[in-house]
Amino acid sequence: RPAVEFHDVRFAYRRGKQEERTPVLKGVSFTVPARGLTAVVGPSGAGKTTMFQLIERFYAADGGRVQLSGQNIEALPLDTVRGLVGYVQQDSAAMRGTVRDNLTYAQPHATEYDIQEAVEMAGLTSVIAQLPQGLDTELGDQGSGLSGGQRQRLCIARTLLQKPAVMLLDEATSNLDSDSERDFRDVLRRVSRQCAVIAIAHRISTVIDAEKIVVLEGGRVRATGVHQDLMEHD
Ligand code: ADP
Ligand code: ADP
Repeated sequence: RPAVEFHDVRFAYRRGKQEERTPVLKGVSFTVPARGLTAVVGPSGAGKTTMFQLIERFYAADGGRVQLSGQNIEALPLDTVRGLVGYVQQDSAAMRGTVRDNLTYAQPHATEYDIQEAVEMAGLTSVIAQLPQGLDTELGDQGSGLSGGQRQRLCIARTLLQKPAVMLLDEATSNLDSDSERDFRDVLRRVSRQCAVIAIAHRISTVIDAEKIVVLEGGRVRATGVHQDLMEHD
């Protein structure tokens, strides 16, 4: 069963007079397999973030159907949707305490086993007792905080604890050096063996690694396929 299905999904934000509403998704159809990495690419304003918000059911579609794990999202209790869909919140500013603290704050009922597993999958085992922002070195930067790449992977570990069926990731703000880039790819590959990962992709490496690519433009799917198929759309 696909993790996510969009069937001819239409959506417009409710703002202003009905007749002034501009459609943002204009009949979008695609499926996301239960495992693997699906990259969504397209210019700013294409509707990528809106698509994520429909998967989280922040908004309901105006037409068509969104399905999660084979079920109409409208028929699922909101709690079930929240459990199935994990959005990787990249708000490193909110991080306090150690890596472990951040994980237990996020999921107070997580078992030690789950924490260890999430930390391993995110490649953070060696820094589990470290402070994300070097808060122990307020008198000066002694370099004891996490790197940008490690913080980003901590955000992934936090979401992993939720054991989502679908992980949503927006890469927008990431500027990683090549080592961090490689670590990030490795983590996404591991995670995508356990759940569906949908990444709004800005990095070429994510697109290359993706099992599936959805090209969204002006609220429509322009193409879907694997990297080789889509080179002509670059
Ligand atoms: P992308 O993530 O691909 O950049 P978005 O989904 O953020 O695209 O935006 C698609 C379109 O919807 C844009 O024209 C944007 O201005 C509009 N839009 C996004 N959010 C809102 C909102 N909350 N209210 C009204 N219009 C919005
Ligand atoms: P934009 O790129 O349209 O300017 P951002 O991506 O910066 O908006 O989002 C603003 C805030 O909303 C960020 O803190 C981000 O983490 C959060 N956010 C954005 N999209 C989602 C989403 N789909 N689910 C949960 N939080 C989101």
